[in-house]
Amino acid sequence: MPTTLSTDVLIIGGGIAGLWLNARLRKEGFATILVESATLGGGQSVKSQGIIHGGAKYALHGALTGASEAIADMPRRWREALAGNGELDLSGVGLLSDAHYLWSPGTIAGNLTSFFASKAVRGRVDQVKGDQLPPALQHAKFKGKVYRLAELVLDVPSLIKRLAVLAGDSLLAGQRIEPLFEAGKLSGLCVDGRDIRAQRIVLSAGSGNAQLLQTLDISQPKQQLRPLHMVLVKGPTLKPLYAHCLGGGPKPRVTVTTHPAADGQWVWYLGGDIAEGDAMDRDSDAQIKAAQKELGDLLPWVDLSNAQWATLRVDRAEPAQSGLVRPDNAFLTDAGSLLVGWPTKLALAPDFADRVLATLKRDGITPGAASELPDLPRPAVAEPIWESVF
Ligand code: FAD
Repeated sequence: MPTTLSTDVLIIGGGIAGLWLNARLRKEGFATILVESATLGGGQSVKSQGIIHGGAKYALHGALTGASEAIADMPRRWREALAGNGELDLSGVGLLSDAHYLWSPGTIAGNLTSFFASKAVRGRVDQVKGDQLPPALQHAKFKGKVYRLAELVLDVPSLIKRLAVLAGDSLLAGQRIEPLFEAGKLSGLCVDGRDIRAQRIVLSAGSGNAQLLQTLDISQPKQQLRPLHMVLVKGPTLKPLYAHCLGGGPKPRVTVTTHPAADGQWVWYLGGDIAEGDAMDRDSDAQIKAAQKELGDLLPWVDLSNAQWATLRVDRAEPAQSGLVRPDNAFLTDAGSLLVGWPTKLALAPDFADRVLATLKRDGITPGAASELPDLPRPAVAEPIWESVF
């Protein structure tokens, strides 16, 4: 198989960052090849909760100061794409909820005062009551306050499927990656013995970036992993709930999203504080017990006696200096022909692509002479986690 291919942009990693970027570049007329070593979306992306944040969550602890940050514009950009009139045509992608809710079970006035004072949420948050409450909270015993945030929740598996369609013939299943040098400069990569030359190479491999950088003998940027221990509950009596439940601290006590399983039942997917910190020291049984207690305290009217429970450990991959980087922008850095980054959120995939496009523009990279692509071995799309864990 001694084929040599030429392309404009070679992308490594087919999660949301690589797939969204690939579709944007193709739309701009660039030739691309996207290499995926496992399944499309199967890293963090299909394990995400699918919330398209507008930054409201960060306003809770003052990390978001204004509307200038990229994240504030994400719900609009995604909404337009979903309607088929945005930067990508994502019509057909499942919208699970057109709002995410903020739910305060008690009186957490301190947090909420600074939250509502923040410019980032002003005019974008409405209190809801009665039959406007999320179905799972519509109960006589429910006492808290609920605010509607103008944030979307997406069905991520259908998003990944759609982006795989928009990728056309550019997808390549490949595992073994080695650098190709010409005149001492990185000119492409050799993927499973196939040489691919490119004007630019983008590493968007999530937690795989660290290993790829090592293979290329590059020491920066450094990556950090943030481990999570998520909980999934599936049951015949569950009703939809998309909400951050506030606790005393800056982070949501629990963040609940709801996903449709193939057998018609709903699955609650639980993240937030319950999936971090001490959760890492709990084994699966102890983590399930902790979640059962939390749901029992917060939603005592929900009958979970016939529910099935599972946990999922997954690492979030981010740039190591993320303590210094604002939580509301994607991260991209470049050196020579190599660009490396992490979107840091599913919601920020459009910002990640913007940053790559801006770098190409800065460097005067335009669509060039690319090879006709032969039939390439194609990676599969990851299956929804709520189908694989139960
Ligand atoms: P990934 O999705 O991890 O994709 C990287 C891909 O690269 C994988 O498919 C992997 O197989 C591939 N790869 C790795 N190494 C190689 C290699 N050597 N060669 C080829 N391919 C390779 N964000 C939000 O905005 N909203 C949310 O609600 C949200 N919830 C989350 C919940 C959880 C539990 C987690 C873990 C994250 C959540 N996030 C959320 C964050 C979001 O999921 C990630 O920021 C985003 O999915 C990262 O996308 P990515 O494409 O960079 O990485």
